[in-house]
Amino acid sequence: MVMLPSICPKLSIIVPFYNEEESIGPLYAAIVAAIDPLNISYEMVFVDDGSKDATVKLATDLARSDSRVRLVKFRRNYGQTPAMAAGIAHARGEILVTMDGDLQNDPADIGLFLAKMDEGFDIVVGWRHNRQDKLVSRKIPSKIANRLIGKVTGVPIKDNGCSLKAYRGSLIKEIPLYSEMHRFIPAMASIAGPKIAEIKVRHHARKFGQSKYGLSRIYKVLLDLMVIKTVASFTSRPLLWFTLLSLPLITIGSLALGYALVGAASAGTSLSLPLAGSGLIFLASSVILICGGAFGEIIYKSGDMRQSEFSRLTQRIRSGAPALRES
Ligand code: UDP
Ligand code: MG
Repeated sequence: MVMLPSICPKLSIIVPFYNEEESIGPLYAAIVAAIDPLNISYEMVFVDDGSKDATVKLATDLARSDSRVRLVKFRRNYGQTPAMAAGIAHARGEILVTMDGDLQNDPADIGLFLAKMDEGFDIVVGWRHNRQDKLVSRKIPSKIANRLIGKVTGVPIKDNGCSLKAYRGSLIKEIPLYSEMHRFIPAMASIAGPKIAEIKVRHHARKFGQSKYGLSRIYKVLLDLMVIKTVASFTSRPLLWFTLLSLPLITIGSLALGYALVGAASAGTSLSLPLAGSGLIFLASSVILICGGAFGEIIYKSGDMRQSEFSRLTQRIRSGAPALRES
C-alpha cells in the first residue's frame, strides 16, 4: 500500500545530489523498497545541487510520478552543506533522515534509525564501521579528524562524516548550517543537550561517478572546527574567547620585550631591536584581537542574534535551565 504524504509526514529523507545521474534512480527504488514495508507516512526531499548531467531531469521525472518526492533545485553548485540545509528547511517530517545520493549509504538501514529514535533519542548518527573508501586519503584522515572533533567539541562521535543520520525535525531546523558544517551537526546541536546515539551502518563502495572531495577538505574541516568551538562555547561571550586567544600572544610579546629591555639594562648595551620589535608586534596583535572581541561583544549586545532560537538554547544551557528535549 502506498501511503500518501500527509502535511507532516512521520519521516523526511533528505538527499543532496551533485552529478549523480546513474545513482538517483536506483537510490529512489532502494528507498521505496526499504520504507514502504514500514507502513509510515514519508517524503523524499531530493536536492539538486546544480548538477550538469541528467540528475535534475531524472529527479524531476521522479517528482512528477511520485508525490512523495519533492525536489529542491539550485541554480548552481553550492556544496553539500547548503544542499542539506535547503533539504532540511523544506522537509516537513517529524523525523529527518539525511543520506548521500551516491548509493554509498544504504536506505535499508533507515528502519534501525527510526527504532532508535523511538527509544527517545534526538539524534542518531551512523557509523561506517566497515567503510569502503580509500585508506590513505579517506579513512586515516577521517579517524584523526573524528578524534580531534571529539576532543574539541566534547561530543565523542566515531564517524562525524557519515551522512546517514536521523534528527528530530524541531531540533535540526534550529541549527545554523554553513561552510562544510554538515559533518558537525551533532556537535553544533550538542549545546541544546540532545540525547545522541550512534549505530553501525552498512557502507558500499561508490559504484558510479566519483567523489566530489579531495584532501582539501582537511583544512576546511579544521577551520569549521574552530568556528564550531567559537559558536558552541562563546556565542554570547566573544570578548572572553578573543581574550583567551590573545593570551599566548601577550605572553610571548611580554617575554620578548622584557628580555630585550632587561638584557639591555643589565649589560649596558643598546636595545636588541629585532627582539623588542617582535615583542611589540605580538603585543599589538593581542590588542587587535581583544578589540575584535570587544566589537563582537557590542554587536552581540545590540544585534538581533539574541532573538534566534539557537542563541536562546545556548543561554538556557548556560543558565542551567533544562535543555531542549522532545517529549
Ligand atoms: N554533493 C553535493 N554537492 C557537492 C558535493 C557533493 O550535493 O558539491 C553530494 C553528492 O552528490 C553525494 C554526497 O553529497 O550525494 C556526498 O558526496 P561524495 O560522495 O562526493 O562524498 P564522499 O562520499 O566521497 O565523502
Ligand atoms: Mg560518497
